Formats: sequence, structure tokens, C-alpha cells
Amino acid sequence: VNDARRTRLLALAERLGTPAFVYFPDAMRARVAALRRAFGGAFAVAYAVKANPAAGVLAALRGVADALDVSSAGEIDRALAAGWPAASLGFTGPGKRPAELEHALDVGVGEIVLESLDEALALDALARARGVAQRVLLRLAPDHVPAGFGDTMSGKPVAFGVDEEELPRVVPRVRELRGLQLVGFHVYSGTQCLRADAIAANWAVHTRLFRTAAALARIEPERLVLGAGLGIPYHDDQQPLELAAVEHAAAATVAELRAAFPRARLSLETGRWIAGEAGVYLTRVLRTKDSRGTRIGICDGGLHHHLAACGLFGMVLRRNYRLANVSAPPGPPAGTFQLSGPLCTPIDVLARAVALPRLEPGDVIAIECSGAYGATASPVGFLSHPPPREWLVRGDGGSVDDVLDANALPE
Ligand SMILES: *Cc1c(COP(=O)(O)O)cnc(C)c1O
Repeated sequence: VNDARRTRLLALAERLGTPAFVYFPDAMRARVAALRRAFGGAFAVAYAVKANPAAGVLAALRGVADALDVSSAGEIDRALAAGWPAASLGFTGPGKRPAELEHALDVGVGEIVLESLDEALALDALARARGVAQRVLLRLAPDHVPAGFGDTMSGKPVAFGVDEEELPRVVPRVRELRGLQLVGFHVYSGTQCLRADAIAANWAVHTRLFRTAAALARIEPERLVLGAGLGIPYHDDQQPLELAAVEHAAAATVAELRAAFPRARLSLETGRWIAGEAGVYLTRVLRTKDSRGTRIGICDGGLHHHLAACGLFGMVLRRNYRLANVSAPPGPPAGTFQLSGPLCTPIDVLARAVALPRLEPGDVIAIECSGAYGATASPVGFLSHPPPREWLVRGDGGSVDDVLDANALPE
């Protein structure tokens, strides 16, 4: 954290109170713009709402991102309330309930992403009862994901999509259903990858599957969605993914996609890469305890607000998120410290053995990479503390007008 940012985050904590999430929509929009410009403009950009569904975030991305990936009726309603047209929504999820499919049909969701033949049959019946043919994509589950992905959901039993091995049986059946219009395919098989070569290799897997599925369906796809897999540097020893490196590594695959599917609108779908680095979690040290040689800062925020920072959101290893004591003037580390939350459980630990210039009661800690999978991915009801405040800070946040409640819809 440079000094200007440190001062700014401290001022926001003083003004807004802690614990709080602070999101920077200008930074989110800049990420979307960068992704749309990259790859010679080959890709539209879809934002995955589950990463951060705050009303203000969805409103800030309207007209900037091309589409939203929604995964529940609740997310559909949030998107609509934030002014997104239903036609720009894609509805994924392995367990869509009948009422959710009906809701999607009723409001006119642009594309429903089918995750199984059963789901296709159920949606087909609902659509035919309404006398419509719903645009659908079929989600494909590859039999492997290249090494380098932090989270994968393929190559093992997974709940998502139609397994590659099943495509010959399933694709022609879906194609036949008259209540559905199969317009393309979707793959999201892994994420949090910081290696350009692995991302390119994964997109090559997607491309191979798209070719197989399109041949089986005998369609020229109008729409192909690549779950982008782009990672962000959560930890001190990680380097950000350079888009230029991905462009270079994936150039042949992108050219192949364009040549093989000239009619298709290609999309990259990501949540964390857009929102993750554009948010911080601010928490204050309530008191310190020196325990058996380690000073522990007991903070007003913890796993009930930020499960992921505690290493409990699908991580194999618990590692500290990048963080700073923004109350302390920059200086050499005074030692290593533990940061715990206020909950009565030993797993409520925000950081272990973290080097800081000091740790005193009243200090404000800023946890980086908290714009995605923060509040929304946390058990906020646990121990009945208040939910976190979430703020949207425009520009540099210098004036009061620049700070909005992130869960309120802007007028
Ligand atoms: C969660 C999800 C995403 C976004 O994943 P990130 O890791 O945030 O990029 C994209 N598509 C689908 C279908 C998802 O479920």
C-alpha cells in the first residue's frame, strides 16, 4: 500500500466506521473495459453476479459489461432492479428449481444455461406450455482442467454441466426439444488461475468441446461463453496476471474460435477478476492480547463478514490475504502478528504470522482483494453480529458525495 492509498483508506475507515467493505466502481469498470479491448475485441464480457451482487455494483457495471451471469431467481431480480435488461442475463446453476425456471421465462431472461438433460426436459415442458421457444445454452463439463487453476470443477464428479463423455447422448436430445432453441454452449470449469499459459490451454479445451458439441447438435452457434478462469493476486508472493500475456498465449485459440464460429458472439465470463481487486475490507483492532510469544489483534471484523480471507471458502491452504495496518506510518516490521475476529471460535482468524510495522488497539487493518466473494460469501448470521456495511466509493472518495451505500440503488 503506498502512502496516499494508506491515508485514504484510513480516512474512509474514520468516516464510515468499521467493519466495512469499500468498493471502487471506477476500478471495476476499468477492468471490464480492458477485457473488452483485449484479444482484438474478440470477446464480450459477462460479469458473474455471485462475486458481488451489491445493487450499486450491478448498477455501476450496467452499460459497461455486456451481460450478467445470474445463478438464482434472487440474482435475476437484483439484476432487473439495477436496470439490466432481462435479455442480457444468462441463467446458470445446477439446481434451478421449477419456480426459478418459470420466473426466468416470465421475465424474459435472454439465455438459460442448461446443466443437464433433465433440466432441459423440465424447461422444455414449461416453455411449450407458454407457447415459446426459449433460447438456451448447454453447459459442457470437460474431462480435465490444465494444471495452474486454484479452483477446478472438472475431471472429477461434478454437479455442473453435461460431462464431456455424455455429449453424444445428450446434445442431440436437447437439440430436438421444440420448447428450446439451442443457440450455443457454455464452459466454466476452473478459476483463480494466474498463469497465462494455463488459461490459454483451458480455452483450447473449451474450443475443442465447442466443436464437438456444435457438430453433434448440427448448429452454427450464435453464442459461446468461456468461463474465463482469470485469477487475482490474493497473497504477497503472487504476481498479477498480465492480460497481454494471456493475449499472447491464447492468440492461436482465439483465432481458431473466430474462424470456426464466425457467427458466434464470444464471451468471457468472470466475477473476481472484475470486482476482486476493486474492494477492501476495513476492520479495527479492538484490543490486543500477548499470548505465548505472539501478539494477537482482536478485530471488529472476522469470518462472519469475510470467510474467504480466513481461508475457509474452498481454499486448500489457509494463507494470508494481502493486508496493511493503515494506521501505522510505513516502516520496517516490528514483528509478526495474528489477527483474529470477534467470534467465539478458533477458526475466526484473518491472518497468521503477518509482518506489520506495529499492532495496537485502534489500528485499522485494510484487507485487499475483498471486492469479490466477501460479504456475499460469508455466514453473516453467525453469532448475531451486525452485517457488514458495504460502501461504494467513486473517484478518490474525497468528498461526501462520492460515498454511497453499496446496497442502495442509485437514483
Ligand atoms: C462463479 C462463476 C463465475 C465467476 O467465477 P470467478 O472465479 O469469479 O471468475 C463464472 N461463471 C459461472 C457459471 C460461475 O458459476
